[in-house]
Amino acid sequence: MALHGAQARAQRRRVRLQVGLLLLAACAPPAGPESAIELRGSSMGTTYSIVLASLPKGLAADTLHAEIRGILEAANDQMSTYRASSELSRFNASSSTDWFRVSEGTRTVVAEALRISRLSGGAFDVTVGPVVDLWGFGAAGPSAVAPTRERIDAALREIGYASLHVRSSPPAIRKERPELRVDLSGIAKGFAVDRIARHLEGAGIRNFLVELGGELRAHGSSPREDPWRVAIEKPSPQGTAIQQVIRLENRALATSGDYRRYRVENGARYSHIIDPRTGSPVSHALASVSVVDASAMRADALATALMVLGPAEGLRVAERDGLAVLFLVKRGERFAEVSTPEFERYRLE
Ligand code: AMP
Ligand code: MG
Repeated sequence: MALHGAQARAQRRRVRLQVGLLLLAACAPPAGPESAIELRGSSMGTTYSIVLASLPKGLAADTLHAEIRGILEAANDQMSTYRASSELSRFNASSSTDWFRVSEGTRTVVAEALRISRLSGGAFDVTVGPVVDLWGFGAAGPSAVAPTRERIDAALREIGYASLHVRSSPPAIRKERPELRVDLSGIAKGFAVDRIARHLEGAGIRNFLVELGGELRAHGSSPREDPWRVAIEKPSPQGTAIQQVIRLENRALATSGDYRRYRVENGARYSHIIDPRTGSPVSHALASVSVVDASAMRADALATALMVLGPAEGLRVAERDGLAVLFLVKRGERFAEVSTPEFERYRLE
């Protein structure tokens, strides 16, 4: 789930820019700088920012920040594929096809991932890792040339969410084939955002915004005592412009796109999002997908899934399931907005 090298730097830059816009849009001018609190840091190969209108009496910002770091650490211990000791890394390394006991957190994320795989007809597939690696977007780093069809077909034979199973009690996951491995990069950030939000609510905080690697969740009102307003970026590689500002109340927003994380080789552009049905990086005109949902985990996975499906099939699925989605589609130098009726209520007039 962590990113490395150039990818990580690009991702961090993207997030910084997004946070800049976000804060610009969300909190300026604040009711009084002394009353707004921001906790920042890095985790899961990216950065996070948590903005609170105020702290409850008796709770110090440092204490709260330490608790949040604990939540992020726990998520890494469960699901990081860059931490050899994590639950998921041990599951991936194991050749056993028996049930493998996991935490409630890992069980929740794998169960939701499988649900999104089914509703997207396999466009979202957390077993796609071997194909991601082949195209040079995995832990092994960039490869010099595009893989051959033979190697892609061989990798495709190794993958498939239908060979991954989850059970509730006791929480466990199981693979039918020893070589199957799981990468939760497309969904775990959203899960962590939900867990942080739950913790803040438990601490009696009602007005907050949590953002991790571009996935975010807003509750109550901003320090200005207005609903939170957050910016969706124009999906260009330089990317400092705002495409759309939306109003979020007790909702999550996740965005997936290939506009920063891609590679160019011999003039061809390769996205880091792979279509598991073909084994190739997505190559349609969709530049980004933003999803608003009650759950950040679900929004995160849906954004990735719809990015794979593309503008036509993605819109069909979004409309079928009543999802709140904004698609930004490349039309020459411009971006055309395609959205579902459910998305419209979040737009700022
Ligand atoms: P996101 O940034 O949430 O859209 O997630 C993108 C990450 O998910 C990539 O960097 C890959 O590690 C992983 N990924 C790529 N393609 C898929 C896919 N089809 N289904 C699930 N995860 C994917
Ligand atoms: Mg995602």
